[in-house]
Amino acid sequence: MRIGYGFDSHEFRPGIPLKIGGIALAHDQGLGGHSDGDVLLHALTDALLGAVAAPDIGALFPPSDPKWKGADSVIFLRGALKRVRNAGYSVANVDACLIMTAPKIGPHASAIRAQVAKLLGVDASCVGLKAKTPEGLNLENAAVAHVAVLLEKAQKPHRRKR
Ligand SMILES: [Zn+2]
Repeated sequence: MRIGYGFDSHEFRPGIPLKIGGIALAHDQGLGGHSDGDVLLHALTDALLGAVAAPDIGALFPPSDPKWKGADSVIFLRGALKRVRNAGYSVANVDACLIMTAPKIGPHASAIRAQVAKLLGVDASCVGLKAKTPEGLNLENAAVAHVAVLLEKAQKPHRRKR
């Protein structure tokens, strides 16, 4: 088995869409920065990459590369999953913590869990998601994600591409 951990944060900016865990959420602000700013998918991608000791998301998909401007973060997640599979592992479970003042994640938590599970090809019961507000952290304008993943040896060996 392998364990992986990822962290990410983005700043809220007005006038852009908000995406968290691959789900579009209705809000007056979105997350700026690298790609579509999906803080949860970025932390998840880094957790998966870290679990197989691969280079991190910033090394594989550099924010300086205009190719990734506004990109769908699902692309990064798929790239990380490919590395996990090529290393002979599959995802056992994921546990995530989202920290932001607004919007409230609670009403969207089951939709986010279902989408993340779908993207990972696991059951929703294998995706934990906790939402916290940044009490005492002075992070009112930021979204933060922490993600832990557990990988297990894949049942069947995967064909390696040459
Ligand atoms: Zn990010």
